[in-house]
Amino acid sequence: MNRLRSKLDQDGREQADTASGPTILMNDFRRLWFDTREEILTAVDEVGQSGWFILGARVEEFEYSLARFVGRRFAVGCANGLDAIEISLRALGLEPGDRVLTTPLSAFATTLGILRAGGSPAFVDTDESGLLDLDLVETALRDDPSIKFLVPVHLFGHAIDLSKLLHLKRQFDLRVVEDCCQAIGARSGDSPVGSVGDVSALSFYPTKNLAALGDGGAVFTDDSALCKRARALRDYGQTSKYLHEELGLNSRLDEVHGAIMARAFLPKLAAWTARRAAVAARYRSEITNPQIGLVAIPPTSVSAWHLFPVRVSPVYRHNFQQHLMKHGIASGIHYPKLITDQSALRKTDFRTMSELHHARSLSEQEVSLPIHPYLTEEEVSKVTHVVNQWTGALA
Ligand SMILES: *Cc1c(COP(=O)(O)O)cnc(C)c1O
Repeated sequence: MNRLRSKLDQDGREQADTASGPTILMNDFRRLWFDTREEILTAVDEVGQSGWFILGARVEEFEYSLARFVGRRFAVGCANGLDAIEISLRALGLEPGDRVLTTPLSAFATTLGILRAGGSPAFVDTDESGLLDLDLVETALRDDPSIKFLVPVHLFGHAIDLSKLLHLKRQFDLRVVEDCCQAIGARSGDSPVGSVGDVSALSFYPTKNLAALGDGGAVFTDDSALCKRARALRDYGQTSKYLHEELGLNSRLDEVHGAIMARAFLPKLAAWTARRAAVAARYRSEITNPQIGLVAIPPTSVSAWHLFPVRVSPVYRHNFQQHLMKHGIASGIHYPKLITDQSALRKTDFRTMSELHHARSLSEQEVSLPIHPYLTEEEVSKVTHVVNQWTGALA
């Protein structure tokens, strides 16, 4: 039974889970379910009994707890991370055609959110860690002082250098939206991600560190006016019932998800993050295969370890993933194609403001190893063993 059970892979595609599929998964949603089932069922029952399903007490309670967790004054639940980015930029007053600096190496949704908000994306390269190179951002801002918006991404769960980001924000009077979709709980030095952005965006897509049982997202901010505007934008742009001051979205977080996240998932997030960090520490010390490179971590980052990226020669990347799969180990690529190379962008007026060498080399070399809170020590040992065993170019 269950041979045709399907599951989401890292990129959200449905995969048939046959008897021959991997046993060490990128995300183990069934282990998550069995660990949290009781709290989830209680949360759902509570919502059912309340008789209130949209924008009620559970979402409010979740928003309150989430704001405390990220160390901000306000959080506003919404439907997904893409909307969170659009809502953040629109709340900040982005006008159609405004240039927005961002990274070519991210989930496509980062750029799509900019476009959906009416912005024109402008790309600069990453550094060798895969995160936006803030020195190149500075050069781009000098080249085009009309640019007023920046969307950096805390890719892989690593925090970008927030003191540098704050410096740039002040120097160039920027509006900053931090894309924290992969990095809730990460810090740069002592500063939590999301503490420099005027508004920051989260996704609760099932693969994320803080997930929903489906889609969800949030924005967070310290500014009450931005919070108010985000609340209106997620709900048709209404500022009070049937009063519409602008054209908003339907991007509400359900009460069921508010309850599930507040009761079952958010209380576990700190422990999950600690577990991810422990797995990462083992990989970093135990993976010794000279053909496998560890991707650099920004020096100030205390990572949330959304992913564990390594580098292999592009020629042998497929072979490496096959080797893992043969031993029952799933893996992923983040991301195989730069956003600037996506055909959907051809009809937009995006701009590339630097060479994209680092981003391109990562997109050609990167492989993500399984890292999630439900990996056992034996499974981590198996992954390191199988990785170290790979002879790659020598095969
Ligand atoms: C997942 C993700 C998004 C989009 O979130 P959705 O909830 O899928 O819309 C945006 N940016 C980054 C960096 C992400 O990882």
